[in-house]
Amino acid sequence: MKKILFVTSEAHPLIKTGGLADVCGSLPKALAELSQDIRLIIPNYQALKTSESVRFMCSIRVDNRNINILETRMPDSQVIVWLVDYPSYFNYPGNPYVDEQGESWANNAERFGLFCRIAVEAAMDRVNQDWKPDVVHCNDWQSGLVPALLSFENDRPSTIFTIHNMAYQGLFPASAAATLNIPGQLWHPAGLEFHGMLSFIKGGLVYADYITTVSPTYALEIQTAEFGYGLEGLLEHRKEFLGGIINGIDLDQWDAEKDPYIAQTYSLSTLDKKQLNKVALQTKFSLPVKGDIPLFGLIGRLVAQKGIDMILECLPEMMTMDIQFVLLGSGDKEFEKQLKDLALLYPDKIAVQIGYDEALAHLIEAGADVFLMPSRFEPCGLNQMYSQRYGTIPIVRKTGGLADTVMDSLPTTLADKTASGIVFSEASASALLEAIKRTLILYSMPDTWKKMQTNAMNKNFSWQRSAQEYLELYEKI
Ligand code: ADP
Repeated sequence: MKKILFVTSEAHPLIKTGGLADVCGSLPKALAELSQDIRLIIPNYQALKTSESVRFMCSIRVDNRNINILETRMPDSQVIVWLVDYPSYFNYPGNPYVDEQGESWANNAERFGLFCRIAVEAAMDRVNQDWKPDVVHCNDWQSGLVPALLSFENDRPSTIFTIHNMAYQGLFPASAAATLNIPGQLWHPAGLEFHGMLSFIKGGLVYADYITTVSPTYALEIQTAEFGYGLEGLLEHRKEFLGGIINGIDLDQWDAEKDPYIAQTYSLSTLDKKQLNKVALQTKFSLPVKGDIPLFGLIGRLVAQKGIDMILECLPEMMTMDIQFVLLGSGDKEFEKQLKDLALLYPDKIAVQIGYDEALAHLIEAGADVFLMPSRFEPCGLNQMYSQRYGTIPIVRKTGGLADTVMDSLPTTLADKTASGIVFSEASASALLEAIKRTLILYSMPDTWKKMQTNAMNKNFSWQRSAQEYLELYEKI
C-alpha cells in the first residue's frame, strides 16, 4: 500500500472549472478503491462545497503567516481532504483563478505559492499527523512549486507532476519570485525562470521525478514546438521520465442504462430506444422530428482549441446536406455570436444553446447520432469517451487523447471490430468536411453503423484501469 498526497487546485464535486476537476475528483477515489492510502490537499475556496463534516486539523506558521489546515472527506467517500484555510487568499466568491471579468486574480502567484508551501509541509510530515507520503502527486501549474521546493528536503517523498493542459503555465513577473521568497538556487533558465518570468509549471517539469500527461499521444506532442509553448526542449530532454496515462470517465454519471437526465435509458441490447432521446432532443430544440436525419451534437468550450472556427467554416456547406446540428457551450463571444446567427438563419437545421447545462449535455450525448470534436489539440478530452459509451459516433481530429481513444472506421478496423468513430488528420475545414461526408456514407449503411456503435459502447474507459497505471508508476518511482 502506498501513501499518496494528491495536490490539486480543483476536484469535483468540491470545486470545478474544467476537466482537471473531473480527474482530481475521480482518480483519488479509484486509487482508494485499490486500497491505497490517499489524501488530497486543496485550497479552501469560499465556493468549495462539501457535504461531509469539516474539522480543524492544525495550524502552522509559514512565511510569517499562520495558516489553518482543516480536514474533511470527499463527498460519499473515505478519501481524506486537507483544506488549506487562509481566508485573505481563498475566502472570496467566484472562480478559483479569475474574477467576474475573466481576469486572473492579481495575487495568484502569492495564493498558489502559499498553497505549494503548505503542500510541502504536509508532504514532509510537518502538520502533526504522523503521516508521511511515499509519493506526492501534483497537478498543473498551481502545484508546480511543490516538486521544486521539495527538491531541497532530505528524505523527501517521490514526486509526480501531471500536465492536464500545457496551455496554462502559471507565468508571473520575475518580481514574484522575490515576493514568494523563492530560493535563489531555483532562479535560473534551467530552473523556474522562463524568459525572465517566474514559471510555476517549470517547477513540475524540471524537478518532479516523473512527469505524466493525460494521454500517450499528448506526451509526444508536447515535445514539439507546435504543442510545447517553448517548453518542448525541456520536455524532450526529460522524455525518459515523461509518459501518458489516459483519463477514465465517471461511469456512475455517464451510463446510458441509468442516466437520470435522458428521456429514455438504453443499453447495447436495447439500442433502438436511443431513438427516443433523439426525438426528445429534436423536440426540445424545435427541430423537425425525423428519425432518419443524422443529428450532429457538440458540447464544450467555444474556443479555438476546440476547432470551433473550423466548424463555422464548414457549416454553410453542411447546411446543403440533409443533417441537423445541436450545440451547447460557451466561450469566445465572437464564436457565440456567429453560431447564434447561423441558428437564426437555419432554424430547421441548427440549434444553439449558449451556457453550461449538465442535464442537456447528457441528453445531447444520448440523442445525437454523431458527436463533433475537431480539436486543434486535446490533452485527453472526455466527451469523445462519453459519446462512444452512448453509441454516439464521434468525429475527431487525430490529436492527443482523441487519437488514443477513438479508432477510425476503415475496412480493416471494421473487420477487426475496433472501428468506433471517424478520425481525420489535418486541422482544416476541408479535412473536417471530408470526415463529415465519410460519416454520412457510413450512417447510410445501418448494419455498418450498428457495428461501429457496438464497438464504441463496448469500450472500457473506467477509472480503475487508469488508476492501476498510476499505481504501477508510483511503484516504479
Ligand atoms: P476541457 O477540460 O478542455 O474543457 P474536456 O472534454 O476534457 O474539455 O472536459 C470538458 C467537460 O465539461 C466535459 O465533461 C463536458 O461535457 C463538460 N462541458 C463543457 N462545456 C459544457 C457545457 N456548456 N454544458 C455542460 N457541460 C459542459
